[in-house]
Amino acid sequence: MSHIFPRHTKSQPPTAVRGDGVYLIDSEGKNYLDASGGAAVSCLGHSDQDVIEAIKKQAETLAFAHTGFFTSEPAERLANRLISNAPEGIERVYLVSGGSEAVESALKLARQFMLETDQPKRNKFIARRQSYHGNTLGALATGGNMWRREPFAPVMVEGHHISPCYEYRNRAEGESLEDYGLRAANELETKLLEVGPETVIAFIAEPVVGATAGAVPAAPGYFKRIREICDQYGILLILDEVMCGMGRTGSLFACEQDGIAPDIVCIAKGLGAGYQPIGAMLCSGRIYEAIEQGSGFFQHGHTYLGHPIAAAAADVVVQKLTEGGLVKRSAEMGEKLDQALHAEFGQHPHIGDIRGRGMFRGLELVKDRASKTPFDPAMGIAGKLKKVAQANGLICYPGSGTIDGKQGDHVLLAPPFIISDSQ
Ligand code: PLP
Repeated sequence: MSHIFPRHTKSQPPTAVRGDGVYLIDSEGKNYLDASGGAAVSCLGHSDQDVIEAIKKQAETLAFAHTGFFTSEPAERLANRLISNAPEGIERVYLVSGGSEAVESALKLARQFMLETDQPKRNKFIARRQSYHGNTLGALATGGNMWRREPFAPVMVEGHHISPCYEYRNRAEGESLEDYGLRAANELETKLLEVGPETVIAFIAEPVVGATAGAVPAAPGYFKRIREICDQYGILLILDEVMCGMGRTGSLFACEQDGIAPDIVCIAKGLGAGYQPIGAMLCSGRIYEAIEQGSGFFQHGHTYLGHPIAAAAADVVVQKLTEGGLVKRSAEMGEKLDQALHAEFGQHPHIGDIRGRGMFRGLELVKDRASKTPFDPAMGIAGKLKKVAQANGLICYPGSGTIDGKQGDHVLLAPPFIISDSQ
């Protein structure tokens, strides 16, 4: 009998015993093509020898040193590498153990920035309805994944939400993509004026929406207008690149393609590529200086901040993504994947939309393609697809989310960047 507390208590998943390139192998010897990198994690595949060597070497040298007492070489190295590739103005790195921790840290840093700069009345976050920022209570409260929030809503601080930028369902007939992007972004200003802009700390969004929507990029110009609004009202822009960052969309940071820089950006998943649990919150020099010249202490922290083995692994991952050319490969292979998906499913009666960037692609599943009518949520179509795919040796990441009152099912594909054409 298993004593593991599983995600689903009514079914027993197979036991994974080995990883080999883009494949996972279970205890029965069955191979699974990992077409979603788990949940957009395994960007280098499952048996990268350079990362494995770095982990071994670091474990033999220094496994752990608490950041209350020490910094460490691998943490410093990784921070330098990230900053030399980061969006403009981003100057400091706070290393954590995963995506939710990165977002929690970002929210708390944003609030503390307001205190340090004498703006204590600012106490609200605005996010989008179609978003997921993590499962810890603060991140969950801020995010807009209604299904995940619902059971815990009574014990959470209520977040404020605007519509997602989701052209497949929300662009009006005859409206240009640019006009739609502008209209969607302007909702932020409307919401700010409704809640009182002087009470808002930050707006948080995923540049390409992952788990709740299936790889939905914003319309051109959307984030430029968002940036303008944030600056106009003195609120911070936090980008959650936990899923879409680290080369997943074809640039190291997804926001590079939107031509903007955030005040804070969160990364995880692809940063450790599955070899180590690691995430990071990166912030601007302006925010860091407010703390440095103010209280001198970020009132937050976790035991495993800046873990040396995790940092050593992530440093090699980022090196391979940047100098090693894997971000470029994500962009190139992503184009091929997009073409293949359109060729195979472009006219499929139950595929309403094929979208995404780089190696981050989503298919929206619909009952009727012409009317975009979603499947009945009770059918749990995305979950069924996941099971059938796994039984047939394919790992893909399904999802459904309430999108402005409409239920949408999707499947997310996020293969390792090393995948070959034939795979
Ligand atoms: N933010 C985004 C955009 C995510 O997709 C996720 C996880 O799926 C998280 C935050 C939370 O990350 P973690 O599961 O590592 O805590």
